[in-house]
Amino acid sequence: MISLTLNTMTLCTSSTVTFDSLIQPFHSGTMKIRVHITPKSGNDKTGPIPVTTSERASCPTTCGLYDKGCYAKSGPLALHWRKVSSGERGTDWQGLCDFVQSLPDRQLWRHNQAGDLPHLFGDIDHSNMAHLVVANTGKRGYTYTHHVLNKHNVDIIQRSNRQGFTINASTESLDAADAAIEKGLPAVCVVPNNKPVPKVSPKGHKVVVCPAQVRNTTCAECKLCSVAKRTCIVAFKAHGSAAKHVNALVSDSLN
Ligand code: SF4
Repeated sequence: MISLTLNTMTLCTSSTVTFDSLIQPFHSGTMKIRVHITPKSGNDKTGPIPVTTSERASCPTTCGLYDKGCYAKSGPLALHWRKVSSGERGTDWQGLCDFVQSLPDRQLWRHNQAGDLPHLFGDIDHSNMAHLVVANTGKRGYTYTHHVLNKHNVDIIQRSNRQGFTINASTESLDAADAAIEKGLPAVCVVPNNKPVPKVSPKGHKVVVCPAQVRNTTCAECKLCSVAKRTCIVAFKAHGSAAKHVNALVSDSLN
């Protein structure tokens, strides 16, 4: 066992994996973020895996669905998310990392059924991510991000993906998904639910509609979003009460 010190936090791990300091944070400091942990999700789509919810302040205002269209802003998830964002529910980042580190090896878990990665003015928080990536050593964590794909963020996402915590680039068009793949990132894309979904993107990448939207399966069984090295784009058909708005927003996304 070795001990790793990241800022003021100490982690014990049986691996030598570190989130090294090649990436220099542009902004100093760390975002204090509230995260709720559901150890065993009751969600029919994810299946019984651990899932988390990060407070709303983690979302970038640049997200195309920030004001309208976010599926997490309606239904029971919206109520839960509000309570996490107000501080009524959840733990801090250390609590999240302690939980992740305690998971069994190879455990699949989804970070952020709502919310995004901690950031400072749109730049993903290097220190927090370093802590989480090391805590995830040996586990199969995955998530999605709408943060802008600037060099700072791409460097952190790439490094995280290489080290076992998969971060998908969330996009609203197949062109944007192609661009994310060209940056070396796994990509997902929201698509209209009232048009056929192409089998390939404009740049020739295979497009796979989320299997849980077309047949009786769960993320616990599918695991596709946790595969960082895939080259196919996972397409999510607009769903939920905002589907009509999302359809209008992404109506040209398949061109
Ligand atoms: S593609 Fe698979 S892992 Fe990704 S959301 Fe759909 S069912 Fe879950």
